[in-house]
Amino acid sequence: MPQLNDTHDPKLTSWVTSANDGQTDFPIQNLPFAVFRRQGSQEAWRGGVAIGDQIVDMATAVQAGVFSGDALAPAQAAAESTLNHLMGMGGQAASALRQALSKALQTGSSQEAALKACLVPRVQAEYALPARIGDYTDFYTSVHHATNIGKLFRPDNPLLPNYKWVPIGYHGRSSSIVISGQTFKRPKGQVKPPEADAPVLKASARMDIELEMGVFIGRANELGEPIAITEAEDHVFGLVLFNDWSARDIQPWEYQPLGPFLAKNFASTISPWIVTMEALAPFRAPFSRPADDPQPLPYLSSATNSARGGLDIALEALVLTPRMREAGAAPARITHSNYKHAYWTAAQMVTHHTVNGCNLQPGDLLGTGTLSGPTLDQACALIELTTGGKNPIQLPNGEQRTWLEDGDTIILRGWCQKDGAARIGFGECVGTVLPANA
Ligand code: MN
Repeated sequence: MPQLNDTHDPKLTSWVTSANDGQTDFPIQNLPFAVFRRQGSQEAWRGGVAIGDQIVDMATAVQAGVFSGDALAPAQAAAESTLNHLMGMGGQAASALRQALSKALQTGSSQEAALKACLVPRVQAEYALPARIGDYTDFYTSVHHATNIGKLFRPDNPLLPNYKWVPIGYHGRSSSIVISGQTFKRPKGQVKPPEADAPVLKASARMDIELEMGVFIGRANELGEPIAITEAEDHVFGLVLFNDWSARDIQPWEYQPLGPFLAKNFASTISPWIVTMEALAPFRAPFSRPADDPQPLPYLSSATNSARGGLDIALEALVLTPRMREAGAAPARITHSNYKHAYWTAAQMVTHHTVNGCNLQPGDLLGTGTLSGPTLDQACALIELTTGGKNPIQLPNGEQRTWLEDGDTIILRGWCQKDGAARIGFGECVGTVLPANA
């Protein structure tokens, strides 16, 4: 697990002055990676690093000779059109690049002049998926979400007996994972109302969100070689925000006996900036279980995981309806939560996923599952916030929402803040629902 070092020093400032205002998601202590180009251009996609309101273009920075030594190979990998090679190089390489970027961007750096020519304003950028996502697995790590959903689907038996023993997950589909800013069509599917004799094919009328985090895998493991929990975070590159859009009327008819399928795989949206595990080092949180819950089996437990396996990441979701957009209104917050409420940590997800020898590869994505907190106002899906569609959400402009309507935009945000550390953030994960095909 990455340790604190001089790159986390809250007193560090950058010659990119917008990084120093204490409000930005991207101070010099963050240094997240994305793949970008100038909006509307035919430029090649390449890696970039966010600093204040700017992006360090890694392709031009490598050409300018800014990097050397241990930082050179990871810098070259970070300039590619996907970050899979960088991810696969492991934590030490990423750490060497972080050290070099931190030095070059610091106030007073001798590399200011060379690197200044490599900046692109963030407002001019558009983003691609940061990696070829070979495989995607979604977990179910919030016991509050699992209990809330279980009550709706199985009132007599909300939390299945395996939940507190095994990190539940399913293999999802990577082809429909899209980058923030993209739209998607409302899906059609088989829906069977409880009172009907037969299902019908129709556009989903119960479009929902799932506020999650996405865990990008770094270094691979060989097929047949499990990753011990003490090694698990060496195989994690970093985290993004993740919206696992869900069709709640398709889901209950199809999910038994093999789990989620077409209710989930029409679109999932990730934020463009990957915040590295090293950047998150100041914001670790203890992992613990209530005394009367089963403790994790030994392969899912370690002293480090108990002391600081969790992450204190504040999360929120906002909606912007077409009426709000036309009126020039700000998006309205519909929920807030924190990753620290998860019942299973990122290390436990990685270790459990590989305990049978399954191989993870650089750029694979693990969803945490909907990160609902302990109270209803911290529920991270509409199905929970509205108690299965019975209690609509009231929006500030007088509108109501039970499920998403066509044209609605959902914005996810996440950030880390505590005394003695610089505030860092994840930027935004934005997606908009379009009408279904006729
Ligand atoms: Mn999910």
